[in-house]
Order: sequence, then structure tokens, then C-alpha cells
Amino acid sequence: MEKPKPKLGDQMVISRSKFGTLFTSLQKAGYSIIGPTVSNEAIVYQELSSCEELPQGWTDRREPGTYRLEKRDDQALFGFNVGPHSPKKYLFPPEHVFWTAQRKESGYEVYEDKSELPRYAFVGLRACEVNAVLLQDKVFTSGEHVDQHYQKLRDASLIVAANCTQADGTCFCVSMGTGPKAEKGFDLALTEVLDGEQHYFVVEVGSKRGAAVLGGVSFRRAKPKELKLAEEACDRAAGQMGRTLETDGLKDILQSNPDSVHWDKVAKRCLSCGNCTMVCPTCFCTTVVDRTDLKGTSCERIRRWDSCFTNEFSYINGGSVRQSTKSRYRQWMMHKLANWIDQFGTMGCVGCGRCITWCPVGIDITQEAAAIREREGDQASIGKVKEDEHAVT
Ligand code: SF4
Ligand code: SF4
Repeated sequence: MEKPKPKLGDQMVISRSKFGTLFTSLQKAGYSIIGPTVSNEAIVYQELSSCEELPQGWTDRREPGTYRLEKRDDQALFGFNVGPHSPKKYLFPPEHVFWTAQRKESGYEVYEDKSELPRYAFVGLRACEVNAVLLQDKVFTSGEHVDQHYQKLRDASLIVAANCTQADGTCFCVSMGTGPKAEKGFDLALTEVLDGEQHYFVVEVGSKRGAAVLGGVSFRRAKPKELKLAEEACDRAAGQMGRTLETDGLKDILQSNPDSVHWDKVAKRCLSCGNCTMVCPTCFCTTVVDRTDLKGTSCERIRRWDSCFTNEFSYINGGSVRQSTKSRYRQWMMHKLANWIDQFGTMGCVGCGRCITWCPVGIDITQEAAAIREREGDQASIGKVKEDEHAVT
């Protein structure tokens, strides 16, 4: 029988035993496959050579300040939520060298790296992560000054999303409208189904590029029962959210309460370590440094991830603007949940929960936002810090 030609919106089935053909097809098309794998007791993104390197049979347990891997009682490939990495690591790397310079007799010669950039195929991105990429697209490519490096990597990349079929303690994508099922921004979207002895992936075609990749994959058309089971699996995840964030009116509440007593309260716990910004898939603050060798014969100019939680980040003209932890936490949360809307027309949070999981003291953006909402008008200058039920132990 002739293989069906997939079109936009079509839904196919790839059996577990043929799943490797997706990897082969991506490799033949020249992509470097980036996907989840187990390393150092976490599920991280790395370059993969085969689908056997996926975290088969593993799941993650995430709570405020806690992350643990556990064995599942099945062989699911995508039976976890999110680890500390995100596609940001590849599209907007922690360090990017703008140029290098070498000292010659006639002076310094400057070189720009013109080597060909990799074509990434991201396999297994969660819906929240796909939305984070779309947010970073806005930041880096929609304004007057386009980030050329990001744009080139992004134009060449392909996204194979993996819809979530479970959620955990720090997920709140439903509140943000970003998951658990990918609705946009993908080339292919998989939903993994384990049904008794049956193990397969329902794959939805999201772009012509995705359809072209399927040309090299062993698949068949999905049956109604398979589509139903895939839909139910995503619905199940939607009902398992560990947290919620009430977004209605939140922008105005935050922007009109810069002196809420609650900022002092959260500042007593925050270590200003910046972990939350490093793991966040949408945070984009950077600094530029020049690195020289000891002899002064070569140097390079680097863009490096920075964080609004460092004292130096707001250093201008002899001093830091945000010297207190209170001012830094307030800046971060107000930017994410309020000021992003003024800049980019949307909140800067996709509800992935990483900042809660990887905060060493378990500070929870959803609880802090709820506390500011509850104490609206309770200003530090006129109010008194009360004990409250939002403290996280
Ligand atoms: S602010 Fe926290 S929950 Fe929101 S996208 Fe960033 S890491 Fe995820
Ligand atoms: S909120 Fe948590 S992760 Fe973020 S800077 Fe404070 S202590 Fe570190």
C-alpha cells in the first residue's frame, strides 16, 4: 500500500519500534538532534545520536527547591516534565563570542567567527518550552535591532514537540495558556501513548518542514481510538497541575504596589543567587565582557548570561540602582508578570515551574503573586508586616 503523504494538521502514528526512523530521517536531513537525556541525576538537553539515549523509563519529581529522578514502572520515553535546561541553552547560549583579536606587528587584527551554524532539531520540547521559544523570538527578532545570531539559529531549527501526558508539583502552564498540549510553534508534535502492550506516538504535522521529515519515517494514519487516547492523556496532564497563577488584573496589581509589605517578606528569604533566572527559559539578560590572555597577545569579546539578581547588573555611573534583594526580586517578578506586557504584549512566564524547583529556598512565583494580590494596598510605608499563610516552609 502506498504511504500517505502527510499534510498540515494530519495526525499519524509512529510505533515505538519504528521511532528510531524519526531520528534517522532528521539526521539524513542534516539536523543535529537536541533532546532530553539522563546525565548527573537530572534530565538535561544534549545532542543525541539515537532515540535509545532518551530517558526511557525515568520520571522527575519536582517540588519547591527539590528535584529527583525516579524509575517509572513502564518504558515511556517522555514520561517526565522539565529539567534545568531549556532550548535557550542552544538558541541563546550562555556564552557567545562576538569577535576575537590577535596582536600582530602592525596592531590588532579582529576576526569574527563566520563558520556555519548548526541546524538544530529539538526533539521532545514541552508545550511550555515551545511557547518560551516563541517569546524569545519576540525579544530577539521582532524589534528594530534583530539578534542576527539568534535569528540564524532559529531560522534553521526544527521543533518536534512532545505533549505532556503528566504534570508535576511545580507546573502551572494551564494558568498561562501555554500547555500541556502544544498548539502552535512546532513542526511536529508527538503524544506518547502506552496502552497495555501498545506503545506508540500520535504525531501531528505543524509545518511543511515537519511533513518533509515524516517522508523518511515509518508511520501510518492514526485510528480514532488512538487519537482519543492521545487526547485523554493530555487532558489528564491538564488536570494534574501542581499550581495555579491567577493572571486576571495581575499586571495592574503589581504595577500599583511597588511598596507592598510583601516585597520585604520575600526578600528575607531570597538569597539573590540568580538560579531562577538561569533556569528560566525566557530570561534574556546578558553582560558583555572582554577576556584577554596573560601575555596580551589575544582577546575576545563575549556576551554572557547575566541576572537581574546580581548587584553589578544595574551598575551605572558609580553605583548600583538596585542594591537591595527586595528591589531585585521585585524587578524580576514585575518584569516577568507585568512589564513584559508593556514591552512585548504578553507575560514573560510560561508556567514551566523551573524557578520554583531550582530556587534553593523554594520561593514560588505563584504564591508570591497571590500574596501581593491579597495584600493589595498594604504598603510598607503605611502598613505593618504581618505573618501570612503564603510563607513557604
Ligand atoms: S518565571 Fe519561572 S515558571 Fe515562569 S517561565 Fe520562568 S522559570 Fe518558568
Ligand atoms: S528567588 Fe530563589 S533562585 Fe531566585 S535569586 Fe532568590 S533565592 Fe535565588
